[in-house]
Amino acid sequence: MTEIPKSHPRYASLVARERVAEGVKKGYTSTQGLIAQGRGECFDYLLGERTTASAAAAIRAGAALLLLAERPAISVNGNVAALVSEEMVALARALNIPLEVNLFHRSEDRVKKIADLLREKGAEDVLGERPDTSVPGLDHARALATRGGIYDADVVLIPLEDGDRCEALLAMGKRVIAIDLNPLSRTAKKATVSIVDNILRAVPQLTEEVRQLSNKPLSDLEKILNEYDNQETLAGAVQEIRDHLDEQFRKGSD
Ligand code: ATP
Ligand code: MG
Repeated sequence: MTEIPKSHPRYASLVARERVAEGVKKGYTSTQGLIAQGRGECFDYLLGERTTASAAAAIRAGAALLLLAERPAISVNGNVAALVSEEMVALARALNIPLEVNLFHRSEDRVKKIADLLREKGAEDVLGERPDTSVPGLDHARALATRGGIYDADVVLIPLEDGDRCEALLAMGKRVIAIDLNPLSRTAKKATVSIVDNILRAVPQLTEEVRQLSNKPLSDLEKILNEYDNQETLAGAVQEIRDHLDEQFRKGSD
C-alpha cells in the first residue's frame, strides 16, 4: 500500500481509496467497486466527512431494528470486505449472527476470497459460498442466496447495495437497513432505515449502538423505531449537505 502522511487533510479518504485498490489487487473487490467508492467519496465530501445528526439517528434506529428482528442477516460485498472486514465481524459477533457474502458481480473465486478474508478476521459463520435458493425478481447471478441467511431473514443490513436488490428484498417482505452515502440513491430512498454515512464510520457506531441498546427493554427499542421516519432522515441528510456547502463556500469567499 502507498504510505499516506497522517497530516494529509484527506487522510481517511485516501486510506479508504488504498484499501479498495488493494481489494481489487487481491481479487475480492471488482473493478466497478473502485467507481462505487468514488461516488461514495464525492457524497462524503459534500457531507463534510462526518457522521451527521440524521445519520446518527438512523444508526440508532438501525441498531434497534437489528435487535428487534427475529432473524437478522448481514450482507457483505467486495467493497465492504475491502473497507471494514474486521468491523463487520465485530458487528456479526455482537448480534450473534452469520455474515453472508452477496455479490453484484458474482464470481465463485471472489466469493471464496471474501469468505476466507472474513474467516481470517475471526468470523465463525460465513454464508454465501453454496447458495441454495434465489431472491425472486432478479437475474440469476444477482439472485443467488442461502437458506438460513438473507433469504429467510426478516431484517437485512445491506451496506453499499444496488437499488434493484434492495427493492427485491423489500418485495419479499423484509425490512432493510442500508448504508449508503448517496441520499438520492434508489437504495437510500427505498430502504426502511437509510444510514447516509461512510461505512468506515457507520459500522463501528452501529456495533456500539447494538451493544448499548441490547440492555434496554424491547419497548424502548420499539419506541426508537416508531419515532423514526426515513423520509425525514433523508431530507435531513440533504439539508446537512446544503448547510455544509453554504458554510464552506462562505469560508472560502471571506
Ligand atoms: P442505486 O442503484 O441505489 O441508485 P447507485 O447506482 O448510486 O445506487 P452503486 O454505484 O450501484 O449505487 O453502489 C454504490 C453506492 O454505495 C453509491 O450510492 C455510493 O454513494 C455508496 N458508497 C460507496 N462507497 C461508500 C462508502 N465507503 N460508504 C458508504 N457508502 C458508499
Ligand atoms: Mg445502481
